[in-house]
Amino acid sequence: MDKIIIENLEIIAEHGVFKEEKFLGQKFIISIEMLTDTREAGKTENLEASTHYGFVADDIEKLFTSKSFDLIETCAEKIAEMILTKYHLISEVKITVKKPWAPIRKHFDFVAVEITRKWHTAYLSLGSNMGDKKKNLLDAIEKINNLENTKVTSKSTILETEPFGYTEQDWFLNACIEIKTLFTPQELLEKLLSIELYMGRERIIKWGPRIIDLDILFFDDEIIQDKNLCVPHPWICERMFVLEPLCEIAPNLVHPLERKPISTLKRMLERELEK
Ligand code: AMP
Repeated sequence: MDKIIIENLEIIAEHGVFKEEKFLGQKFIISIEMLTDTREAGKTENLEASTHYGFVADDIEKLFTSKSFDLIETCAEKIAEMILTKYHLISEVKITVKKPWAPIRKHFDFVAVEITRKWHTAYLSLGSNMGDKKKNLLDAIEKINNLENTKVTSKSTILETEPFGYTEQDWFLNACIEIKTLFTPQELLEKLLSIELYMGRERIIKWGPRIIDLDILFFDDEIIQDKNLCVPHPWICERMFVLEPLCEIAPNLVHPLERKPISTLKRMLERELEK
């Protein structure tokens, strides 16, 4: 991917843990790499098709001098978030914040923090089989869309499906959505669990009735096997109520473990179910 780079932008600002740092100020040196496609701007000379590095530098300076943060880690996070949310052509940023006058009694060129942040694409599955099921799904989608630095970018239709596992319960409504987010997978899971809790979900029977169930199906093409989080979601290939709505919004998405597109996985399950 192409990059726009701002190297060693110097700003005097008042970040640091010590009160002297907040009072005297000191030099910070900031470098930015912004991943973006420069091809169209390069061919047409149209700045609208690119990102104005002058505006980015002004915004960094404003952000850096309008507040005082204790940590350069926070400074780097704030810059990354500002660029990714304000400059829509930028998909990923690398930020380095150097502090050449850091107050430690040693010889050194600088101390620094370097971070890379990017927009992630995740696919979520939603299900409800209690109360006003359609409203529950729509409320959950709205709550996800209102999460900070997260946008719902595609929605499937809502499907009615038979219960799976524990069958002595009402039919489900299911849907899938695509989101863009700056959250990590664990942060996203935590947000989804708090939406479930807020909407009144109780976990009584495994696979039992629920006001709302929110699962992370895919998170970019990451493979995660944590104690509390498994991505891709382990049951995708066996569940038509996931594959059907997912196939509406992402038929060509390749399952990173199965190495097959969703449309193929859906066809394979259809054949399996016909047997
Ligand atoms: P359930 O309500 O049956 O969907 O289970 C929810 C629990 O499964 C959560 O507390 C998570 O810790 C765990 N979990 C593991 N992988 C995932 C995933 N991909 N999406 C959502 N929850 C997950």
